[in-house]
Amino acid sequence: MEKNVTTLYGLVGRRLGHSFSRGFFHEKFSAMHLPADYINIEIPEIGELTDVVARTPNLAGFNVTVPYKEAIIPLLDAIEGDAREIGAVNTVKVERNDHDGAIRLRGFNTDCEGFRSTLPRQAAEWTAALVLGTGGAAKAVCHALRTMGIEPLTVSRRQGCGDLTYGDLTEAIVGKAQLIVNATPAGMWPDVGECPPFPLWLIDSRHFCYDLIYNPAETEFMRRACTRGASVKNGLDMLYAQANASWLLWN
Ligand code: NAP
Repeated sequence: MEKNVTTLYGLVGRRLGHSFSRGFFHEKFSAMHLPADYINIEIPEIGELTDVVARTPNLAGFNVTVPYKEAIIPLLDAIEGDAREIGAVNTVKVERNDHDGAIRLRGFNTDCEGFRSTLPRQAAEWTAALVLGTGGAAKAVCHALRTMGIEPLTVSRRQGCGDLTYGDLTEAIVGKAQLIVNATPAGMWPDVGECPPFPLWLIDSRHFCYDLIYNPAETEFMRRACTRGASVKNGLDMLYAQANASWLLWN
């Protein structure tokens, strides 16, 4: 079934089902006439990864998704660039020594570059942002913003987890931020009616609201921000940008 010249790439996670990455890379390989395949690698525990990599000699690289972006770090031989500061890895390059067969895993974070590269031009003038959520995506976004000289404040549902809780948000705090990023899964399909508990009445036409969710294309957060006159963007461009950045790292 599988030709022995096929180079394998994959997505490592716990429960994957339909994944964007698989479709994206299949299309890419087909358009480029590459003898390569992209597979879902579902593992119940991250500890099983070492064995999977050893048993899959043509695996050249993989993406990492929930819940392993941080848990994978102790299994890596090197953690590079943005990933080191963010503390989360979404792309791994597998390097094999032809002489002794030793395997070296190098971890990267392309969510950061995916987000940074898809901000609008006016971002060059921004100074402050509010980032909703405190997970891996929020960390990548905060790092990207800091590298651009934009100071992020994270907003959490839990006291002590972020810089602020939703209850701390005042007109002055929201008014100071030019950018509000939804880096939570609230509103993602199938829970499309959900919205982070953000005081949306404090949003106005000066705000740019970026939702990292791409399904649905317009989230409840975007819809409500739009009715307040804000500019809005979903996570689709970022999704493509981070996948293309992974491809560049593997090659
Ligand atoms: P995560 O770790 O599951 O969640 C991030 C944070 O969101 C949590 O730590 C939590 O923070 C908050 N949260 C969770 N459920 C919530 C709810 N119902 N209401 C309000 N806040 C909630 O997810 P992640 O990996 O960081 O990803 C976050 C989102 O970004 C997901 O929708 C993911 O699909 C998306 N994403 C998109 C791209 C892209 O390329 N477009 C890339 C990466 C991630 P607190 O408990 O502190 O409130």
